[in-house]
Amino acid sequence: MVIMAVSSSSSTFQPVLDRIAAEIENMPARGRPADYIPALAACDPRRFGMAVAELDGTVYGVGDWRQPLSTQSLTKVFTLALVLAGGGDALWERVGREPSGNPFNSLVQLEYENGIPRNPFINAGALVVTDRLHTQTGDAAGTLLDFLRAESGNAQLASNKDVAASEAAHGDRNAALGHFMASYGNIGNPVPTLLDQYFRQCSIEASCADLALATGFLARHGIRADGTRLLTSSQAKQVNAVMLTCGTYDAAGEFAYRVGLPGKSGVGGGIIAVVPGHCTLCVWSPGLDERGNSVAGVAALERFTTLTGLSVF
Ligand code: GLN
Repeated sequence: MVIMAVSSSSSTFQPVLDRIAAEIENMPARGRPADYIPALAACDPRRFGMAVAELDGTVYGVGDWRQPLSTQSLTKVFTLALVLAGGGDALWERVGREPSGNPFNSLVQLEYENGIPRNPFINAGALVVTDRLHTQTGDAAGTLLDFLRAESGNAQLASNKDVAASEAAHGDRNAALGHFMASYGNIGNPVPTLLDQYFRQCSIEASCADLALATGFLARHGIRADGTRLLTSSQAKQVNAVMLTCGTYDAAGEFAYRVGLPGKSGVGGGIIAVVPGHCTLCVWSPGLDERGNSVAGVAALERFTTLTGLSVF
């Protein structure tokens, strides 16, 4: 097969998206949906959607790109940005920014490292970030939802109460992380309050189009959809860097190797990715690999950067 590069100055991403969708259609193995959150287990692993948003908000999509998906850990990028915007570098006294090399819900490093999580994108680190956001705003999940609605232009975005309840009913691991960090003084709010906020955050549903648009500020060096500034360009660079090194958990090295973009995955099967200065992407397919990353999602992003040459390397 001859691989044709699609010019990065092409006026439309549609041909490359159509081509990727056709290739994914022929992928034999697509992984398995997350089943530790029962409400997500029923998703069909053959579903696939992908969207690309340009800096001006023009969106291209293919497949199930308008279908709401469970955002899960994708939200960790937005809460991090909101906390950095509101409180600056103080956050980094409470959470690190090194890859963990461990699964996203692992407890083992926390005791050795005195209750300071390795990075904001594993569950422990995300709980610290949500705790900060809740202290800053009084309503972490609501602040996040408002932000996603504004950036996507979709006022209908909401949490799925069934998914939130399912996460809470099977949330012993996250509860353990929260209580353990609280014992080190690294959680400011009551742990049940924090968990409620975190599960509401993770259960927000949005489409690939919504999420590609909402990620736009990271490609615009910190500038929101309405032209106001959320982050300094330096902070936007930092968030992108942490996505590249920590955004796909213990597979971040493999993701950087294959895709070559800052990216963040969630167990709902979504992945968001950033081409700084150029565009943002969101891909969705609910079948996961053993590390919790969408099998078809990673493959599609790998094809996108290969076909277009758009990567940070
Ligand atoms: N809500 C999920 C959890 O806390 C998010 C994990 C993920 O998407 N990797 O387990």
